[in-house]
Amino acid sequence: MASGLNMTVVENYAKGVRDLGGLSRDNLRQSLEAVDLRDAEMVEDLVTSACRYASRASSEYAAQFYRGLSILQSGEDFDAKALSSYDQQATLVAIRGIYNQCRIDDDEYDEEALMGKLLDRIEFEVNRASKMGVWKNGQRDSRQVRYARVPTGAETCAWCIMTAGLGYWFMSEEAASHTHRGCDCVIVADMVERPGTGDYRDVLMDGYDSSEYREMWRSAQKALANGDVPTELSERVDFLAATRPGYRADTNGPLAAMRWMYGLK
Ligand SMILES: [Zn+2]
Repeated sequence: MASGLNMTVVENYAKGVRDLGGLSRDNLRQSLEAVDLRDAEMVEDLVTSACRYASRASSEYAAQFYRGLSILQSGEDFDAKALSSYDQQATLVAIRGIYNQCRIDDDEYDEEALMGKLLDRIEFEVNRASKMGVWKNGQRDSRQVRYARVPTGAETCAWCIMTAGLGYWFMSEEAASHTHRGCDCVIVADMVERPGTGDYRDVLMDGYDSSEYREMWRSAQKALANGDVPTELSERVDFLAATRPGYRADTNGPLAAMRWMYGLK
């Protein structure tokens, strides 16, 4: 094995991120239980500062992970930095959206739903920072860095699987930052020069095979093209492609087929 990287390293990171998300939820829950949730301004203050703190902690963890990836793969140390992706404005917009969703009456809210969604938000931010922190360090690295989305658990969505099937590539910020509640994918950076190997999207990593995900994607493409999916599904894909701007039949179509075939989100 050319690289010292294996799935255990990646899974440990995913577990650490999950723990950090859980801890951040618990801490925020305690703060929110001490206030009147109808006081939106107070809640905004608490949630934004908790998200800022949790994102920073997650970015620090991502920096350590990036440094570990460098040492394991190339033997070289890298001065990785905690590069937080925290965006207070985005968090505020999300909080306001949550208030709107949970409003029952003028000044009355479904407080259980409100609490749940606010806690989901901080977990989402921890997840995102854990991915962006790796990606941002890769962008600062003078070596040629490619990234793979590596699923580690059961809660992988169709979009995660589609991009996981691409193996290592020059991922965009948008592709790296994609996450959702329970997303246990890890963005893994590869910074090793591999002269002469041409297509090195499948970098050796014990226990990880992106072709498995690529196969799921291809089967979904095939099923859609051959009409091996329910008629409602293919009709819906055609309808959305014709009516919704930005809907791409060649991407969103197979994603829909993949959700149906494999019972994914
Ligand atoms: Zn994921």
